[in-house]
Amino acid sequence: MDNTWSFHQAAARDESDEATLRPRRLGEFIGQPRVQANLRVFIDACLQRDEPLDHLLFSGLPGLGKTTLANIVAHELGARFHSTSGPALEKAYDIVGPLTKLEHGDVLFIDEIHRLSRPIEEYLYTAMEDGQIDLVIDKGPGARSVKLDLKPFTLIGATTREGLLSAPLRARFGVLERLEPYGDDELEQVASRTATILQIGLEPDAGALVAKRARGTPRVVNRLLRRLRDFAQVEDRDTIDADLAHRGLERLGIDGLGLEPLDREVLRVLAESAIAVGLKTIAAAVGEEERTIEDVYEPHLLRSGFVMKTPRGRTITDRGRAAIGLPPFDDGPKTATLF
Ligand code: ADP
Repeated sequence: MDNTWSFHQAAARDESDEATLRPRRLGEFIGQPRVQANLRVFIDACLQRDEPLDHLLFSGLPGLGKTTLANIVAHELGARFHSTSGPALEKAYDIVGPLTKLEHGDVLFIDEIHRLSRPIEEYLYTAMEDGQIDLVIDKGPGARSVKLDLKPFTLIGATTREGLLSAPLRARFGVLERLEPYGDDELEQVASRTATILQIGLEPDAGALVAKRARGTPRVVNRLLRRLRDFAQVEDRDTIDADLAHRGLERLGIDGLGLEPLDREVLRVLAESAIAVGLKTIAAAVGEEERTIEDVYEPHLLRSGFVMKTPRGRTITDRGRAAIGLPPFDDGPKTATLF
């Protein structure tokens, strides 16, 4: 076997692993007990009435299982699953095809639904509420509008930024479920399940270590395990033990607090500034997109109490300074703004 670790090989394998790693049924999904219990009731009630499920919105940070749950709901309902995303739908008509192709009871999943354009949202309002869309045919004086009836369907939206969803769109969802970051025990269960699927042994203390550094997120558990499997493979081992996990995480630049190199860069940018720092400045300084900083990195830094968000920008806390080995502030937190 070729034991050379290659980034490209790893990336390609990650993508195919992603599909295999997704739990397919509610019973396989780990954690989020309240959400699971609610979904069980709603799904069973719909199956008994033989009706499509009401439109559903999942919100929560990236990697917490929104797409997975949407797939599970469709599977449990015995419904076909169609998927698209807010950024993929550019022009208003882009949504017409996906909507008119739906068969009775199908699930249409729209990821990043907070990024839909206003005209598309407007199509969705009547589609979700009345099961119809108004198509405008022709332009100018000859323009006329034709109503198309849609088959009853379930829209499942996923958003990392529930606050950005417009009020009329939000109001059209009958079920709104928020996913919370996972506890260490749950992440250990995710790690153990993933290791089994990836066909690599995982000792309990190594699983616990991975869980602790995974920022409350199953996707991070899976990513770390795939990389640790790579390290195990090149060392010709079939089990990840605590020693390999320690060394592997260190090589990946993940510290004892679960911080990655980019988290530490963000903290350093904040620590070096005498005043509060705007998102744009942080993104430019660390060479990452604003959206990624805001959606992927910042939530963990805020939740861990390393960073504070003020109307003027972000500031680092004493805990954040300690996380990158700096002494506490001696003159109190910063208040001025830098854009
Ligand atoms: P999101 O849509 O919220 O960004 P995903 O549903 O794509 O997150 O989940 C990311 C990865 O984490 C998937 O590969 C999935 O297998 C795994 N995952 C998420 N939630 C769970 C869970 N509760 N149990 C097991 N695996 C999970």
